[in-house]
Amino acid sequence: MRYLSTRGGTETVEFCEAVAQGLAPDGGLYLPETFPDLSPLVDAWSGLSYPQLCHAFFQHFATDLPDSDLEGAIYSAYAGFSHEETAPLVRLNDQWQVLELFHGPTLAFKDFALQLLGNLYELQIKKTGKKLCVLGATSGDTGAAAISGLLGKSGVEVFILYPEGKVSPLQERQMTCTGAENVYPLAIEGTFDDAQRTVKELFGDLSFRDSIGLSAVNSINLARILAQSVYYLYAWLKLDPIKREHTTFVVPTGNFGNVFAGWLLTRMGIKLGGFRVATNQNDILHKLFGSGKYELGEVYPSLAPSMDIQVASNFERLLFYFLDGNTEQLKQVMKCFREEGRYAFEKFTIPGFSSSSTTDQEIPEIIQKVWTEYHYQVDPHTACAFKDLPANEPAVILATAHPAKFPQVYEDAGLGRPTSPILEALLDKPPLKYQLSVDAREVRSFIEQKLNP
Ligand SMILES: *Cc1c(COP(=O)(O)O)cnc(C)c1O
Repeated sequence: MRYLSTRGGTETVEFCEAVAQGLAPDGGLYLPETFPDLSPLVDAWSGLSYPQLCHAFFQHFATDLPDSDLEGAIYSAYAGFSHEETAPLVRLNDQWQVLELFHGPTLAFKDFALQLLGNLYELQIKKTGKKLCVLGATSGDTGAAAISGLLGKSGVEVFILYPEGKVSPLQERQMTCTGAENVYPLAIEGTFDDAQRTVKELFGDLSFRDSIGLSAVNSINLARILAQSVYYLYAWLKLDPIKREHTTFVVPTGNFGNVFAGWLLTRMGIKLGGFRVATNQNDILHKLFGSGKYELGEVYPSLAPSMDIQVASNFERLLFYFLDGNTEQLKQVMKCFREEGRYAFEKFTIPGFSSSSTTDQEIPEIIQKVWTEYHYQVDPHTACAFKDLPANEPAVILATAHPAKFPQVYEDAGLGRPTSPILEALLDKPPLKYQLSVDAREVRSFIEQKLNP
């Protein structure tokens, strides 16, 4: 299997290359050149365990990896999940089930991709002998999941910038209490945007980038997308076969990576019933599906912070298919959007997609209601999935984070505080962080000094 760039200006590459690069050299995102037809395999795959299914799925995509390496990377990635089913389905009523994606080490769905990505990086380093230095900015969840996926990996050093005082205390503990020697949490004086800008500046410094083998772990990496396709397939296979084609997957969405991963399966002969894109008050995607207008607005911090985004970086992948693979037209749309902050499609309708948006006022109300009706605790991101959800249609709701990661909403609503032993255990560990000012030169010299002491 080979991978092409959405912008058409790069030769196709193999899986390991696409994963190591992240972003394609022409600025586009990688996609599979062709798709396998998985429909004849559905019966044989129905009884597989999560890692077995993941392995069978990736055999179609990671074709340049030795099979035993692939299998090892997958099994060890999911060995640390605390639920025996890895991604259990929990029934709320006759129509609705929740797909719990928060049983990984940092209690959010990003673990599914980042635990595997860490192992794939390790294989890549073994193969090429070149070390990697991972640099990223985070407003919380991504940093914690990336650190957990990469901690202790030989040949990888991890530098994560976050705005001091602006991530939740639990998220900060998840990043700073790991005890790992290859992890450097950098508490930056400034906002998330400042941290992001610093990271971009360092990535733009090509000689620095090459000299230390800088790599990004954000959701543009193809391996992250494919790893997430697997849990949609796993859940779909567990549905009653007569309901499979009528069940909608409801996805709390920010960068569009998660929902895109599910949609990819429809290109592989898997008949999922549809997708509901659930945004918070930052509703750029909801507006797009409603009006065809893709318009940059200001970001308003919300109770579901991991969905507070302005530009959905994975949208370009969907756009590629929406435009029937016309890379020239895609480049025009992206250019116009970059320059003017907006693009108006005549209409942007894709069969099977619907959308919703949820305000900060509604999130605690939904949390309360789901608790009262089903005795089930949802986190503020997952809460957004319940907005205007049709009661008489079957749905699988993706629970993207454990409610214990966001206890404040529960306390404010006068509900019992959700807990998790994984988070409790962090309280006993000493935090380690490095405080820096938001200055690219200072961050650069910090990194150089740690890499070459
Ligand atoms: C990252 C994140 C999201 C958004 O996922 P995208 O792939 O960016 O759409 C939703 N919920 C939680 C808890 C997250 O951490």
